[in-house]
Amino acid sequence: MTMTADRSSALYERALEVIPGGVNSPVRAFGSVGGTPRFVAEGEGARITDVDGHRYLDYVCSWGPLILGHAQPDIVAAARAALERGSSFGTPTRGEVELAEAIVERVPSVEQVRLTSSGTEAGMSAVRLARGATGRHKVVKFAGHYHGHSDALLAAAGSGVATLGIPGTPGVTEGATADTIVVPWNDREAVEEAFAEHGDDIAVLACEPVAANMGVVPPDEGYLAFLRGITARHGALLLFDEVMTGFRVARGGAQEHYGVTPDLTTFGKVVGGGFPLAAFGGSADVMRHLAPTGPVYQAGTLSGNPVAVAAGLTQLRLLDDAAYKTLDGLADRLIDGLANAFQQAGIGVHVQRCASLFNVFFADAPVRDFAGAQTADTERFAAFFRGMLARGFHLPPSQYEAIFVSLAHTTEDIDATVAAATETAAELS
Ligand SMILES: *Cc1c(COP(=O)(O)O)cnc(C)c1O
Repeated sequence: MTMTADRSSALYERALEVIPGGVNSPVRAFGSVGGTPRFVAEGEGARITDVDGHRYLDYVCSWGPLILGHAQPDIVAAARAALERGSSFGTPTRGEVELAEAIVERVPSVEQVRLTSSGTEAGMSAVRLARGATGRHKVVKFAGHYHGHSDALLAAAGSGVATLGIPGTPGVTEGATADTIVVPWNDREAVEEAFAEHGDDIAVLACEPVAANMGVVPPDEGYLAFLRGITARHGALLLFDEVMTGFRVARGGAQEHYGVTPDLTTFGKVVGGGFPLAAFGGSADVMRHLAPTGPVYQAGTLSGNPVAVAAGLTQLRLLDDAAYKTLDGLADRLIDGLANAFQQAGIGVHVQRCASLFNVFFADAPVRDFAGAQTADTERFAAFFRGMLARGFHLPPSQYEAIFVSLAHTTEDIDATVAAATETAAELS
């Protein structure tokens, strides 16, 4: 099957002239899978249509936010109604209170929450708050964990024990990451060493409770409880970055799923219903350090934007326990089907998951950390991606991203995906 992508290609050529790399976020460029990104004209439910008129079953779902699918009617109606009342005021609105209450009700560790416009801002602000509240400097993070692109959190480099902040990208100075300690995920000794050496000056340990930006790498049994214990013993705060996991792996996020309570949590993606909205929160005792109550400055012209708030609130209200059960069931069916497809083809893969958050690693062994993730066969992934795209299935264009099912996907959609994957896998072997 060949598909022309004439209009997408033409737009991409134009985009390359005026937008660096033709895209507004790097992974969209198809850099690691080859070919031209599809320019999307519209989405409905589980499907997107590109500017050349091709329809795809979508497993990107805007990288997670669209847990109810594209253009979900209740969300469209809520956003439209809010927009008609005015797009932004720069003064408080009722919806912000209701969304904060909805978050606090679902996530018991969060007593107060501040809204931002992106996950990056939420992560950056949470770390500033942690430093301001503890009077300490250092941040511990894990290699391969993504907390947005603020300078101090972009240090992700280097395996090995307690690698001291090597900037991961040009433009981030050594100064900006000098207080960032990077350790391998699922490694207890490295965390113990970091605390043994710097314990008195560690403000916060940040993690994705389920790593989902290097493929999906869940915590080993007991690892989150270990992180809770060691941070508490040293008077450091524990930050769960639930931008990906929040309101996806359970109604109350990964902290509910694993039963481990952090001091600070960041949210994004699902919480915004497809609009630029994110949040960070924690106990009232920590949050009171934020301006205007306390001295730690944090702000945003469009923070708590009423249109985004209306969409996010509507989405959260539709996500009840039954919704998560359905979503997890769809993921079960897809995971079983994909695992079978690759087994039949004699291709070694490891499907790793937490609830409906999962990915397929083209790797010989289960992946426990960033070094393991880097052993994956990215060329084979790329061939699989291209085979699926040609069949009308839009997967995330990278081995190192999760695959997103939504409540708009049906069991028929899943079965069609498995059939296409079975054909594609046979071609690869
Ligand atoms: C997407 C993501 C972010 C960044 O959010 P943006 O809204 O893209 O700035 C931060 N942390 C995690 C875990 C994410 O998945």
